[in-house]
Amino acid sequence: MPEFNYTWEFETKAPPEAMWTRMADTNRFNRDTGIPALNGRVIEQRGSDRHLGFQYFGLVAVEWDEEPFEWVRPHRFGVVRRYTHSPLKEVHIRVELQPRADGGTHLIYKARVVPRNFIGTLAIPIQIGVLTRLGIERAVKRYDMELTGRAPALSKMNPSALTPGARPRLDSARKTLTSRNFARKVIDKLFQDIEYADDISLARMRPYVLADEWKVPRREVLELCLHATRLGILDLEWDLLCPLCRGASNTAVTLGEVQKQVHCEACNIDYEVNFERSVELSFHPNPSVRQVDTRVYCVGGPQVTPHIFAQHHLPPRTQATISIPLEGGRYRLRTPQKRGGQFLFAEPEGLPELTLRATEDNWNEDEPRMNLQPHLIFENATPQDQLFILERWAWSDQSVTAADVTALQTFRDLFANEALRSGEQFSVGGLTLVFTDLKRSTQLYRQIGDAPAFGRVLNHFEIIRSAVDKEEGAVVKTMGDAVMAVFRRPVNAIRAMQAAQHVLSDPPENLSPLALKVGIHSGTCIAVNLNNRLDYFGTTVNIAARIAGLSSGRGILVSDAVWNDPEVGKWIGCQPGFHSEPFKATLRGYEEPFTLWRIEPNEDAETLPQMELAN
Ligand SMILES: [Zn+2]
Repeated sequence: MPEFNYTWEFETKAPPEAMWTRMADTNRFNRDTGIPALNGRVIEQRGSDRHLGFQYFGLVAVEWDEEPFEWVRPHRFGVVRRYTHSPLKEVHIRVELQPRADGGTHLIYKARVVPRNFIGTLAIPIQIGVLTRLGIERAVKRYDMELTGRAPALSKMNPSALTPGARPRLDSARKTLTSRNFARKVIDKLFQDIEYADDISLARMRPYVLADEWKVPRREVLELCLHATRLGILDLEWDLLCPLCRGASNTAVTLGEVQKQVHCEACNIDYEVNFERSVELSFHPNPSVRQVDTRVYCVGGPQVTPHIFAQHHLPPRTQATISIPLEGGRYRLRTPQKRGGQFLFAEPEGLPELTLRATEDNWNEDEPRMNLQPHLIFENATPQDQLFILERWAWSDQSVTAADVTALQTFRDLFANEALRSGEQFSVGGLTLVFTDLKRSTQLYRQIGDAPAFGRVLNHFEIIRSAVDKEEGAVVKTMGDAVMAVFRRPVNAIRAMQAAQHVLSDPPENLSPLALKVGIHSGTCIAVNLNNRLDYFGTTVNIAARIAGLSSGRGILVSDAVWNDPEVGKWIGCQPGFHSEPFKATLRGYEEPFTLWRIEPNEDAETLPQMELAN
């Protein structure tokens, strides 16, 4: 049978890096070029190859074996499909995105199609030669317009896709959200997406990605999505991300459904869930507002794993050279067949060329430095096939992790019933813990009487809560007059506590000022379910509580860990009204002395805290 070779070329104004985000998102790209959705999905995973089945070629159901995609981001990707029981035998796709002198892209799409029989020979010129080409042309044009800001608004391009009867629901939710002080612009963006955006964009709405796209503050979009969920417009879900492919290998509707051990089908590994990395919050429209079609058009493709910069298959005892633009930072080269990987670091002064060898022994333990446009020679010195995978080590900061959101006051207020599975503990990574206590509260009760004193204590909780909320933290619980609060970043904790102390020390007329003892420490914690509430637990928590116990109620006591945080250092440098000094202290229950820092306002008024000095 004769083969068919097609080469189609397109010119775009958008640069290769931007075109890559659409072209290499082959799920979206296949849909946009008019290829029908997969019906069968993955039938069988054979090593790193997949056996897939679905309806594609005209009306003929076809199945195929798909080798893993190969790519060098953002310059080229390709895939080979070998069909069984089909008029087609093989399809080889190769897409190249070459930079143009004017900043645009010269895009080359190559397809080599081998028919199996006479029907294939007849159908290929129309099905692929004409229909597929037209679909690609249309998609490329549209991506180029979108990426260069020349596309009309979504509502001009797409018809409304709301569920019948959704309009009054949305109108009433819009009113409520406006009354809760969300900016009209942000509400409009969200509602426009819900009505007009395509299904692929809505199936997994990631608040920080939307915020970056809309150029509005991330926290505002996150909070808007949380409120919209409470109003029945959106649903939330917890995506459990696999540490290798970083895809959502499982999802849970509530945190309580999240299990500690999870399996990723695609990578065939079990992994342990932690809140800092592997649990991501995403949203989708509630079906009463919009029914989202979640059909899949392609299961592979480079953008399924955007942290992987290059993927290259090598037969035994072969090598290949790739040239790839990198962002500075740490990378890892691995193959699915070998344990571990080889770490690499990209920086401007790094080496221009590196040979990276997979042998039958363990990976090399050193971490070579390469420049930002290195030539990498991948060498397979093993007797097996190896798929070389070069991945960025850092995780995307565009994810709202469970660690982030459970430390957010809005989430705790709106979803107070979201607790963990009882008995499960999850690592939440680094958090900043704050403990406060009202100074001399017993005296307060005696001086002004129980009822007024209690009123002031309640009012002081409100002041702390509002200060914590303003700084993106959350109050975990109150114990007597004490408060435990949690933040993702130490600098927010300090700012919140300074604000709270300031308000309490300067109350309205006729009221005596209140002094707040504050201790702050940061480190890793474990999240647990305590009395049906999400609580934290561990040494970091205990130390923070002990530090608060040493406070005099003037200024803030922070641990060395908090003090050494770069953001804290920078912030304190810009606070002329404050001074800070270190001292050694012993904390009850801990033998070793701790270095603590007292950050306090400049006027000298009160005595220093009582403490046991170690040196
Ligand atoms: Zn995986």
